Amino acid sequence: MSRSVLVTGGNRGIGRAIAQAFLDQGDKVAVTTRDGGAPEGALDVRCDITDQEQVDAAFKLIEAEHGPVEVLVANAGVTRDTLLLRMSEDDWDSVIATNLTGTFRVAKRAAKGMLRLRRGRIILISSVVALLGSPGQVNYAASKAGLVGMARSMARELGSRSITTNVVAPGFVATDMTDVLPDEQKAAYQSQIPLGRFADVADVAGAVTWLAGDGAAYVTGAVIPVDGGLGMGH
Ligand code: NDP
Repeated sequence: MSRSVLVTGGNRGIGRAIAQAFLDQGDKVAVTTRDGGAPEGALDVRCDITDQEQVDAAFKLIEAEHGPVEVLVANAGVTRDTLLLRMSEDDWDSVIATNLTGTFRVAKRAAKGMLRLRRGRIILISSVVALLGSPGQVNYAASKAGLVGMARSMARELGSRSITTNVVAPGFVATDMTDVLPDEQKAAYQSQIPLGRFADVADVAGAVTWLAGDGAAYVTGAVIPVDGGLGMGH
């Protein structure tokens, strides 16, 4: 059955791979980004998730084209890394505004339609650093840890209407976000990963499509690690 799927931040990296995986399954996929460039076959919607009006307009368009969103993948996210004592309020606010408040805004709007449908799948893309912590990422780790509490609270609120809410927590994934890391740092991180490599974007997409599929109908409030074992025990 072809479902209405929304992937935020689906023009590159992990989000693009997720959008492509749903397209390959035959779903109707909408992708929201600030810059555009959705994969072929997806509805390409410009929407800055830090702006409520843009989010409302995007949902109107998606609902008109594809019907109410049945699967939401809240993937859009940013980093602004620096050590705590150098971190400005602007560094803090901008990361929280996108990763945490932006996700809240999109999830709230999607849940409205799912409650009417009495079904839905909400998947929030967090990170291994949410629970592990990461030097230079106080803002980012806090935003990603916040998604776990958000998802688990939503799982409790929405579960009675057959809406599941889960978190996927990737480790290091080879994308633009990690491309900027110095080579020595990448090697140091790899030495800590039991599987000995960074994830491919397809590794993350596989977990997301599973959570959105029939096989995961009874999974809610879970945090699924896709981190090669990096965060084991957390
Ligand atoms: P990229 O930097 O490659 O892509 C980020 C995406 O988010 C882009 O599509 C970007 O589109 C979109 N985006 C950013 N800000 C906004 C905004 N305000 N409104 C709408 N869209 C926005 O990141 P990755 O693919 O690496 O990461 C995707 C997600 O996975 C993020 O949430 C990230 O935190 C998480 N993650 C990544 C890991 C990694 O190692 N790469 C590890 C763990 C988690 P545009 O700029 O056009 O708006």
